[in-house]
Amino acid sequence: MEIYDLIIIGGGPAGITAGIYAARQKINTLLITKSFGGQVARKAVAIKNYPGFEEISGMELIKKLEKHLRKQKIDIERDEVTKLKKIGNHFFVQTRSKNRFQSKAVIVASGADPRPLEVPGEKEFIGKGVGYCTTCDAPLFVNKTVAVIGGGNAGLEAAIFLSLIAKKIYILEYGKKVGADEINQERVKKTKKVEIITNTALKRIRGNQFVNSLIYQDRKTRKNITLPVGGIFVEVGSQPATSFVKGLVDFNEKDEIIVNPKTGETRIPGLFAAGDIDNVPYKQIVIAAGEGAKAALSAYNYLQKF
Ligand SMILES: Cc1cc2nc3c(=O)[nH]c(=O)nc-3n(C[C@H](O)[C@H](O)[C@H](O)COP(=O)(O)OP(=O)(O)OC[C@H]3O[C@@H](n4cnc5c(N)ncnc54)[C@H](O)[C@@H]3O)c2cc1C
Repeated sequence: MEIYDLIIIGGGPAGITAGIYAARQKINTLLITKSFGGQVARKAVAIKNYPGFEEISGMELIKKLEKHLRKQKIDIERDEVTKLKKIGNHFFVQTRSKNRFQSKAVIVASGADPRPLEVPGEKEFIGKGVGYCTTCDAPLFVNKTVAVIGGGNAGLEAAIFLSLIAKKIYILEYGKKVGADEINQERVKKTKKVEIITNTALKRIRGNQFVNSLIYQDRKTRKNITLPVGGIFVEVGSQPATSFVKGLVDFNEKDEIIVNPKTGETRIPGLFAAGDIDNVPYKQIVIAAGEGAKAALSAYNYLQKF
């Protein structure tokens, strides 16, 4: 088995940037990722805060990041890491397709997955009307009535994007008011297709072959209300994708990997984390990219002394 200097897990902004920096330091590197772009693929409206691009779609930014990475001398595997362990001073990585890899250092940049609703009917109707990526699934809902669950920025941006395609969009928010930025609230108000319902607790998703309704409780009156919808977009936040490092590193109360913010190193020598997966605040593309660069340079310093 070839022993890599470095294995990077994740192909979002943090992992891709780490890959570019590692290759430029001439570190023999393997990057393993389930997909390219990570959460950027879920961005429903244009990105306007990544320096150098006044406005760019998530898909366009991902294409550019992946192209930049593929220009480097780096090995790439499309796979899911299921287990990571350290024996002696080497790391052992196992993947979903039963491949095994070995390295002297690792950067975990596996980011975050959408948080599920955990209501009856959700799992049953995934891919049959329940979706977690508006940009990916919206074209299936031309002229349909749909619901977006969650009134944060992601929820309102999903509704704005859906308003170009769907007939009617409900936003269901648990709290007394939506938590999205003022600018997104104004944009939603301008589209006549979006209706915000606050104080809702989602109870159940129903359908036959495909979703046809949802039931929520009005938290003021405690009445259960059935809302006929053909699709449900889940935008209730994210959770760190950490299952494969359980038992190896320390986590905070949000299940984020605790790192030294100067280096990105975890409590395990040679094991670094970068991007949304770690406990550094402000989950943004530019921060994830910066952390990827920092972790790769720290890994380089670690490898010099290996
Ligand atoms: C809807 C939405 C809108 C957003 N809008 C903005 C915005 O406008 N501006 C901004 O700056 N930020 C925005 N963000 C936040 C931004 O997308 C994240 O901060 C950023 O993507 C984090 O990058 P990352 O590389 O740390 O993780 P991710 O983007 O989550 O990438 C993680 C990568 O790891 C891979 N992976 C996960 N688990 C495994 C595994 N076990 N094995 C192998 N690979 C794995 C995934 O496939 C993915 O490629 C938004 C996020 C969302 C959800």
